[in-house]
Amino acid sequence: MIQPPPLNTAELQAMDRAHYLHPFTDHKALGAQGTRIIERAEGIWLWDSDGNRILDAMAGLWCVNVGYGRTELAEAAYRQMLELPYYNSFFQCANPPAVRLASAIADIAPAHMNRVFFAGSGSEANDTVLRMVRRYWDLKGQPQKKTVIGRINGYHGSTVAGASLGGMKPMHAQGDLPIPGIVHIPQPYWFGEGGEQSPEDFGIWAAQQLEAKILELGVDQVAAFIAEPIQGAGGVIVPPATYWPEVKRILDAYEILLVVDEVICGFGRTGEWFGSQYYDLTPDLMPIAKGMTSGYLPMGGVIVSDRVADTLIEEGGEFFHGYTYSGHPVAAAVGLENLRILRDERIVDYVRKDAAPYLQERIAGLIDHPLVGEVRGVGLLGALELVSDKTRRARFAGDGRAGGLCRDICVRNGLVMRAVGDTMIMSPPLIISRAEIDQLVELIWRCLDLTAAALKE
Ligand code: PMP
Repeated sequence: MIQPPPLNTAELQAMDRAHYLHPFTDHKALGAQGTRIIERAEGIWLWDSDGNRILDAMAGLWCVNVGYGRTELAEAAYRQMLELPYYNSFFQCANPPAVRLASAIADIAPAHMNRVFFAGSGSEANDTVLRMVRRYWDLKGQPQKKTVIGRINGYHGSTVAGASLGGMKPMHAQGDLPIPGIVHIPQPYWFGEGGEQSPEDFGIWAAQQLEAKILELGVDQVAAFIAEPIQGAGGVIVPPATYWPEVKRILDAYEILLVVDEVICGFGRTGEWFGSQYYDLTPDLMPIAKGMTSGYLPMGGVIVSDRVADTLIEEGGEFFHGYTYSGHPVAAAVGLENLRILRDERIVDYVRKDAAPYLQERIAGLIDHPLVGEVRGVGLLGALELVSDKTRRARFAGDGRAGGLCRDICVRNGLVMRAVGDTMIMSPPLIISRAEIDQLVELIWRCLDLTAAALKE
């Protein structure tokens, strides 16, 4: 193999500026500032091209569940590439890793979910969801049941269907989204939107918006409700304890499908294999991606309940839907090895019994910082709300400026956390040790001090 000649940071930045259009990026601002080039990683740590070591409290983009540097995953990919780098799953074909991965996922999924449709990403998985949900009701003789109810500030991807199912207003504003047949209800975000209600009352209110919307549209028009167990990109929004039980009551009363988007919560993030198990939900479809391969290769999919799969299979004939990379053998081999690591090393148990209680206990202490108005989290997800006055849940002026400032200070001090407005969020690799959690919390505290000082200037 011929290695390309090494480039230094300035050379890479110049090339990047000239040629590389990044996702979710203001290119003018980035061009002025220069990209940060991440060169290598190990465990929970990243190194940039200037040799800085950074604690990755986001597991990449919520995906590197088993941590960086697992040679078994590289070896699984290498072996599979030599054996069979690609073949499709169309035309009555399959490949061994894809078959085995579907079976292995069925083993860990809720008992009523036994089949997997493979895609290349979380967004593609949600495109599949929309097609599958509508196909299901067509086959059930109710083709008018087409509307999917999502939530404002939910995130389900960036393709046309993904962005439509999601409820991100800035995304909808670019390109006439959502597409027809997708509507949104309020989110269960008590800190931001709960007003004077208690979290419990607000949770019930937010859930009842689903019922109100179903009744407004007519249940004969509604195909499905889609939601993340805990909203990730929206700001690690942990719903009040009353929310999911009330949603379940409503779903039991009306005949619509439940789509639980497990792209972030799946594969151990909450201390259960899936967020649906954490909240005791019975989904009809579960889109997955990210932790499915720990991000080592791109892969997504939809785990399908027997109710939906049996209808598609028994009554459906050909479903005109699929992707070139559905069931990609190399991604599947990595997914299989990733599942083996999660299972054999009891990583999900470790999250539930050890890492998550410890992380939640340690970050809860950050409420003593003057900038922090709320700390919340489940499993290895966490969020801090930055406030100007913690007695009143009062935000800083500037619409996210405090969060942006805090995020930049974090990076300069060796920590990746993400800012969603003024909410600082984290989602570290599941293998983070107690000592590393201590390091993380110390770093956060220091960065909050620096942010408080910078905000005073
Ligand atoms: N669903 C959820 C809940 C997500 O968090 C994401 C990505 N952050 C997606 C879907 C889309 O996944 P992808 O970026 O792989 O298309």
